[in-house]
Amino acid sequence: MHIIEIYKSVQGESTWTGLPCIFVRLAGCNLRCTWCDSEYTFSGGKKMSLDEVEAEVLKLAPVKLVEITGGEPMLQERELIPLMERLLQQGFTLLMETSGERPLANVPKAVHKIVDVKCPGSGEGESFHLPNLEALTKCDEIKFVIVDRPDYEFARDFTRQHTLEAKVNAVLFSPAFRKDAAPARDAGNCALDPRELVEWMLQDGVNARLSLQMHKFVWEPLTKGV
Ligand code: SF4
Repeated sequence: MHIIEIYKSVQGESTWTGLPCIFVRLAGCNLRCTWCDSEYTFSGGKKMSLDEVEAEVLKLAPVKLVEITGGEPMLQERELIPLMERLLQQGFTLLMETSGERPLANVPKAVHKIVDVKCPGSGEGESFHLPNLEALTKCDEIKFVIVDRPDYEFARDFTRQHTLEAKVNAVLFSPAFRKDAAPARDAGNCALDPRELVEWMLQDGVNARLSLQMHKFVWEPLTKGV
């Protein structure tokens, strides 16, 4: 596998926010979102065997929550699925963050998938693999990263059209962070003011959950490996 980093921190997104978590960050992505904060994953990475990745994760125990992220993890599906099976067997709770562009049908059902649907402002608005809606379970979460009103309307309408609340554990509306974020750990670094997003959600009665990237309020927003 091509691995960028394996480290321990607190989970910064999703309904798992705030919990201690081991992150396994895979190299490579086939998308280029305008607001991407993980461009350092696009190339490189250390080549590691399944045994080596598993051993690194076990070293960071007793934390029992592991997130597989990237880049886009599913680009390494052939190695990733066996890794997931091993870690599940070791008793870890597994999360996977994915762009939603790759087919997810082969992911073990016990893995909690956190699946992006890219909004138009990402520049990758047509990338979602629609059959993935059939692979979702009530353990999963769908996330929209939102930069402006058209993105919000896309997220709202997609949520309603596909009755996402009935399909998944949570629908997350997350304001994008600015790529030129200042060191200040505050909402001024959001590309869209979270308060404005909340007002739109309340006006429309959208059954979604506001999601802020908590790690960007704990550490300076451009800090890597946290
Ligand atoms: S899918 Fe994720 S890693 Fe890839 S470009 Fe978009 S935000 Fe960055």
